[in-house]
Amino acid sequence: KQAASVLLNKNAPKKKKIAVMTSGGDSPGMNASVRAVVRAGIYYGCDVYAVYEGYKGLLEGGSLLKKMEWSDVRGYLSEGGTLIGTARCMEFRERWGRKQAAKNLITEGIDALVVCGGDGSLTGADLFRHEWPSLLEELVSDKVFTEQDIEPYKHLNIVGLVGSIDNDMSGTDSTIGAFSALERIIEMVDYIDETAKSHSRAFVVEVMGRHCGWLALMAGIATGADYIFIPERAPKCGEWQKELKEVCQRHRDKGRRNNTVIVAEGAIDDQLNPITSENVKDVLVEMGLDTRVTILGHVQRGGTAVAHDRWLGTMQGVEAVKAILEMTPETPSPLIGIRENKIITMPLVESVKLTKEVASSIDNKDFDKAISLRDSEFIELYEDFIATTVKDGDSQLLPENERLNIAVVHVGAPTAALNAATRAATLYCLTKGHTVYGILNGFSGLITTGDVTELKWEDVENWHNLGGSELGTNRSTPSEDLGTVAYHFQKNKFDGCIIIGGFEGYVSLKQLHDARTNYPIFNIPIVLIPSTISNNVPGTEYSLGTDTCLNALVNYTDTVKQSASATRKRAFVVEVQGGHSGYIASYTGLVSGAVSVYTPEKKLNLSYIEEDIKLLKENFKHDQGENKSGKILIRNELASKVYTTELIGDIIDENSGGVFGVRTAIPGHVQQGGKPSSKDRIVSARFAIKCVKFIEECNRSANKAAAGEVTDSQILRFHYTNKGVKIYNVENEDGTAAVISVNGSHVTFKPISIVWDKETNVELRKGDVIHWEEFNTIGDILSGRLMLRKELDAESS
Ligand code: ATP
Repeated sequence: KQAASVLLNKNAPKKKKIAVMTSGGDSPGMNASVRAVVRAGIYYGCDVYAVYEGYKGLLEGGSLLKKMEWSDVRGYLSEGGTLIGTARCMEFRERWGRKQAAKNLITEGIDALVVCGGDGSLTGADLFRHEWPSLLEELVSDKVFTEQDIEPYKHLNIVGLVGSIDNDMSGTDSTIGAFSALERIIEMVDYIDETAKSHSRAFVVEVMGRHCGWLALMAGIATGADYIFIPERAPKCGEWQKELKEVCQRHRDKGRRNNTVIVAEGAIDDQLNPITSENVKDVLVEMGLDTRVTILGHVQRGGTAVAHDRWLGTMQGVEAVKAILEMTPETPSPLIGIRENKIITMPLVESVKLTKEVASSIDNKDFDKAISLRDSEFIELYEDFIATTVKDGDSQLLPENERLNIAVVHVGAPTAALNAATRAATLYCLTKGHTVYGILNGFSGLITTGDVTELKWEDVENWHNLGGSELGTNRSTPSEDLGTVAYHFQKNKFDGCIIIGGFEGYVSLKQLHDARTNYPIFNIPIVLIPSTISNNVPGTEYSLGTDTCLNALVNYTDTVKQSASATRKRAFVVEVQGGHSGYIASYTGLVSGAVSVYTPEKKLNLSYIEEDIKLLKENFKHDQGENKSGKILIRNELASKVYTTELIGDIIDENSGGVFGVRTAIPGHVQQGGKPSSKDRIVSARFAIKCVKFIEECNRSANKAAAGEVTDSQILRFHYTNKGVKIYNVENEDGTAAVISVNGSHVTFKPISIVWDKETNVELRKGDVIHWEEFNTIGDILSGRLMLRKELDAESS
C-alpha cells in the first residue's frame, strides 16, 4: 500500500505512549528515524519513550526506558550509529524474556512500539506481537497484573522500520543505512583501485552480507568490478574458478590494469561451501596476478548517514507514528518500506516470511527461488551486471540486422552521473554488437564541428566514478540549427539517440520530436535520461545527479551547523541551487533539520520571516548554551526576488534581539558534487541499460513494420514494457521519443508529447506537479514550526 498524506485521519484514535527502539546491528540513519518518531509523536499529542540498548532495554526497563522531550533528539540527523544504543539480546529470544518485556511495557503504560532493526529484530517483533495475548494471560495468571490492568493493552501496536546496512528485508527496495554503507564501500574501493592500477594488481574486497548480496552486487556495479560473489546466486562448485579467470583475463586483454572482485561475506558455491576472499585470491594468484585481499569490516557501518538514509529514516519515522495512530485492533502490524520513490506499508509478518524464505531457499540450494524473492530492482541489476561485465565477450551479440548505431549526447549543466550513465549504455551496447557514438560538446558541438567519437570499451570502462562530462556538455539545443543536426544524424546513420541532461535535454527531445515531419531522420527512437541536480525535469520524480548533490549539501550543512554550534547562538541562511524548483531546498531542509525552507513554490513574506524569528528565539531560549546544535535555514536561489539570502539574514539578525546572530553561506558549484554517489552510479546503470533496451525494442518493432507484420501507426504508438517497468498509457501518442520517468513506485517511458502538453511549466522550466510538497509539511512538523503555530493560534484566540 502506498502511504497517503502525512496529515492524520481526523477520526484516528489517539494513542498516548509510543516507544521507539533500535535493534540489531547499528546503521546510519537510525537516528533520523528516532528523531522523526519522537517529534512526530509529540506533535500528534503522544508521549514518546526511547528504549535504550535494543531489546535489552525492554527486558530491563527502568532507566533504559526514557521519556523523550523535543530537544532530546536535537542534532540527531548529523550523527552516525544509533544514539539510543543497540545490543544483541539473547534473552529476548526466550519466551520468559519476552514476558518480562511485556511486563515492563505495561508497567510504563506503553501501548505501541516502533522497532527499527534488521530481519532478526523484526522477526523478534513479529513473534512478540503474535505472542502478546498469551503473554498477558500469563502475566495475569502469575498475578503480576489483574484483568483490569491489562484491559487497555489487549492489542500491542507494533510498527517495523528496516534499519540495516545489509538491505536484506524482502518487500522494500532499500533499508535505512544500506546506501550509507554502500557509499563507504565505493569510497574505499575507489581508493583501492588507484593503488591497484598503479601496481597492476588484483584486489579481492570482502563486504558485509551474511545472507544477502545487495551490498556486494551494488558495489560491483558502482565500482566497475570484474566479478562478484553473492549468496543468492551461488556459482557451480568447482567451476566458478574457470569463469572468474576468463573474465579477469578478458578485461586485462582489453586493456584494464587492475582487477577488482567483490565478495559478500556469506558467499557460497551451489554445494553451500563458503567462498572466502582467500579462495578467490588463490585463483587470481594462479593466473599470475599480484593479488591482495581487503576485508572492509566495520568501516562499512561507520560515518554519518547519506542524504537518502536521512530522508528514508525521517519519512518512515513519521509514517510509523501515523500508522500507529490510525491502527485498529484488526490492522496487521505494518512494516514501512520504500518502492522506487514512494514510502509504502506492508504487513510485517509477510515481509518477515519472505525474508526467511530467501535464507531457506539458499539452504535448500534453490538459488533461482532465492534471487526471485529479492525485489525486482535487485534482479534487474544483477542481470545488468552479468550482461555488461561477466558475459561481455561475444556470447550476446545480436544478428547483424539488429545491430544499431546509437548516439549519446550530454546536454545542460554538468551532473556527477553523466559519465557513469554513458559508460553503462556503452558497455551494454558493445555486448550486443551496437556501435556507440558520443556527440562531443552537446548539440552546439555537433552543429559547429560535427565531432562525434566512437566509444570503445577501453574509453569508458573507468567512467563509473568520474564526475563532470567526458563528452562535454552545454545548454545548447538542436533548434540552433536543426538542419545541421539532421545532417550529422544522417551522416553517422544514427538508429537511436540517448540524451542525458536536465531541462535543456528535455527541450532538445521535444525539438527533435517536433522536427520529425521536416527531418525524417529524427524518426528514430530518442530517449531522455533526466540528469540535473535541480530535479526539475517534468514528468519524473528522479533525476541522475540529484543524489550526489544532496550528499554534497548534507556534508556542507553539517559543516556549517558545526561552525554555528561552535560559536553558539548562531544561525546560517544557506542558499542552494534548483532554479525555479524547490526540490533540492525542500529535501535539504528536511534532511538537515532546517528551521525554515524558502522555495519558489511558497510565497515568501514578512510574516513568514517573523515566524522564523520566533521559532529561532524559541530554539535558542531552550538551549541555554548547553545544547550546542547550530541552526540553519535553507533558501532556494530563486525563492524570492525581494527577499535575497543576504536580506533574510539581515532581517533575522536585526530582529533577534541580540539572542543570536545570523550568517549566510552559499555552496555554489560544489553542489554538482565530485564523484557520483553510489545511488547515482546504480541508477545510472539501470536507466542507461533500460534505455538501450527501449531503443532495441523500437527497432525490432520498426523491422516488423518493414516486414509488413505491424502497421506504421502501430510503431508510432509503440510503448515499452518489461519486468519491473510498468506500461504507460500512451493514449495513441508517439511513444518513440520518451523520457524515462519515476513516479511513485513506477518506472515508465513517457512520450514527450504527452509530458510536454500535460505536465510541463515551460516558463518556469519545471513540471506542474510538486511531488515533494510533503517534505515541507514533514519538515515543518519536525522543526517545531507547526507546534509553534498551534501555540500562537491558541494565544491569539
Ligand atoms: P542486522 O541486520 O544488523 O544483523 P538484525 O536485527 O537482523 O540486524 P539480529 O542480531 O539478528 O540483528 O537480531 C537483533 C536482536 O533481535 C537479537 O539480539 C534478539 O534480541 C532479537 N531477535 C532476533 N531474532 C529473534 C527471534 N527469532 N526471536 C526473538 N527475538 C529475536
